[in-house]
Order: sequence, then C-alpha cells, then structure tokens
Amino acid sequence: MKKPNIQAVRANFENFSFLKGKKEKEVEKKEITIKDFILELKDKIMANDYLINYEEAVRLAEIPNEDEDTLSILFEAADKIREKFCGNYFDLCTIINAKSGKCSENCKYCAQSAHFKTNAEIYGLVSKELALCEAQKNEREGAHRFSLVTSGRGLNGNEKN
Ligand code: SF4
Repeated sequence: MKKPNIQAVRANFENFSFLKGKKEKEVEKKEITIKDFILELKDKIMANDYLINYEEAVRLAEIPNEDEDTLSILFEAADKIREKFCGNYFDLCTIINAKSGKCSENCKYCAQSAHFKTNAEIYGLVSKELALCEAQKNEREGAHRFSLVTSGRGLNGNEKN
C-alpha cells in the first residue's frame, strides 16, 4: 500500500470548513481577550488605584500599531483614567535657559556641551532682574511654576550670589 503524503493530508484537513471555523473562532477569541484585558485593567485602576505590573505593561506595549481597533480601546481607557485622576486641569510649568552653552561636561545628547560643534547659543548667567522679568511674564501668561536651568555641573563662585 502506498504511504500517504503527510503534507497533502494536512493541507486537506486545513481546508475542511469546520476546522476553518475553529481557526476563525480562535482569532476572534484572541481579539476579545486583549480587549477584555484592557477593559478589566481600566476597571481595576479606576476602582482601586491599582498600579499595573510589568507583564501587564508589556502586554499593552505589544499591541501592534496597525491594530487600530484595539489601540482606540486602549486610548479611550487611558483617557477615562486620566479624567478620573487628573481631571481637565493643566499644571503649567515653564523654564528658561539661564546660562547657555560652553559646558565642560560631555553628555552625548546635549547641544550645549563644549565637546561638540553645535550652533547652541552661548551666554553667561542671566541677571536676577531678567530672571524675575521672565518669571512675571510667564505668570501673566498662566504658568503656575517657573524654573531656571543652567548649563554646567553647577554655578560658579560669583554666580551663586
Ligand atoms: S551638564 Fe547639562 S549642559 Fe552640560 S552637557 Fe550635560 S546636559 Fe548639557
């Protein structure tokens, strides 16, 4: 008797409609699972201030960019959580660069490091008057907090006064 060709048998089986239906159901089940997962997670967070764990975060991050349906459920859930815990209030915070460029440090990402040729502006510490004027201007424009950032590891002797 001739031995059956296993690949041909498998291909035939995959064409059976009852198996196709089963496969479609499996795909559907998988979709429902991730959507249910998002909704259950949202409910847990909203009910108990639950903090998601690493595995849950990874599962959310693995949702493919092309899966727009699932992503819109995720974004909607995130928006509900944002609304519950933060409301619609914005805390405006502004900064000015109070001393720019010529920095002795070598942070690879920074255009103000003297180790790289960039077009970053170079100027010394701004005066107290200018800093105050900027703070007041930002306050008038609605900022609730105002900070000064400076290039370098810290302020030098005279700059601390
Ligand atoms: S210390 Fe600050 S200013 Fe200097 S290179 Fe690093 S990030 Fe830039």
